[in-house]
Amino acid sequence: MHPKESEDATVELCRESLLSWYGQVKRDFPWRSNPDPYHVWVCEVMSQQTTLKVVLPYFERFVEALPNCRSLAEAPESQLRSLWQGLGYYSRVRNLQRGALHILSNYGEEFPNAYESWLAVPSCGPYTAAVIASVCFGEAVPCVDGNVVRVVSRHAKRGAEVWAPSFRNELMRELGEIICRKNPGDFNQALMELGATVCKPRRPLCEACPVQTSCQSHADGCVHLYPPPKPQKSFRDVELVGLVAQEGGQRVHLVHRRRGFLSETCGFPLLTNREELCRRVRHLGLEGALDFGSRLVKHTITRNRIRLTVAELRCSSSQLSRLISSCSQDSTHIEVQSVGTSQVRDNLSSSLDCKIWEQVFPSRFRRCSSESELW
Ligand code: SF4
Repeated sequence: MHPKESEDATVELCRESLLSWYGQVKRDFPWRSNPDPYHVWVCEVMSQQTTLKVVLPYFERFVEALPNCRSLAEAPESQLRSLWQGLGYYSRVRNLQRGALHILSNYGEEFPNAYESWLAVPSCGPYTAAVIASVCFGEAVPCVDGNVVRVVSRHAKRGAEVWAPSFRNELMRELGEIICRKNPGDFNQALMELGATVCKPRRPLCEACPVQTSCQSHADGCVHLYPPPKPQKSFRDVELVGLVAQEGGQRVHLVHRRRGFLSETCGFPLLTNREELCRRVRHLGLEGALDFGSRLVKHTITRNRIRLTVAELRCSSSQLSRLISSCSQDSTHIEVQSVGTSQVRDNLSSSLDCKIWEQVFPSRFRRCSSESELW
């Protein structure tokens, strides 16, 4: 057999094994039994920072309350927030709503049916657009997520190149040549499912793998070397004060951050300048109400290595608004909301805020059932 023919036969075999395996073991999610574009779209945006298993109850609640594009486009912000609570990154649900408005104004009651058109929908990057186009409309466009990168890295012994910014585009081109044209949606989902359930980051289950016979790293006994570790990021050290402002021991004032650091999350006011804070607190006549204690939170977000001092302040919500306005050059992006102490945890949408709350009220703190619910 000509080497090219032999290579084609291997690819064909691999594709068939993968699809047949997927047909037998795929997990039963509601958006799979009914690949409605709206459902697939909502599910994909929801699962951007977490797993499908975690997303399931949120998804069901969301599509029951907002069953279509029009209801999503018309939903008040408070409803969006409450449906998204626990998933973090509120900007995603706002983008989802922008996407719904875009679809209604450009396609009426229909959905776009091509990859390129979905790319223009707010909230949809290449990955989300590819999932919807392939699963709902049968377009042969490959999906590349972290699971797929890991499978390819191990299967074809692809090393550090997989971390290059251009690799995902390159991989899209390569997979575009071997994707199953008859059923691209299942092909994409099979590859992602393989990464999520068998070719897992730690302890891959090679004995249960449908493409084991063609896997190069398995054949060479070096699965553990792929993918290689990600290059180290360089970190920036950040000092912050997290302000837990309470009124009468019963109400806690939280802020919705519209822009900037931790934008689109709800939590405690975060301030960068401790001296400025003390000065402004004095100016408002609240100095006796401010208590720094010695509680410290360490946390890393993207490239920021944060050391945060927790301070408590007794004040009203209007005093807190004035304080934030005077400490920040642009406070228009922050909105204060007061909640009962028992509701604080449910309103927090970042793990940094959870850590702050844990410092102040360890006994009331209910640890998240899964860290992936937060970021
Ligand atoms: S054989 Fe093992 S390493 Fe190779 S693709 Fe399958 S699970 Fe991953």
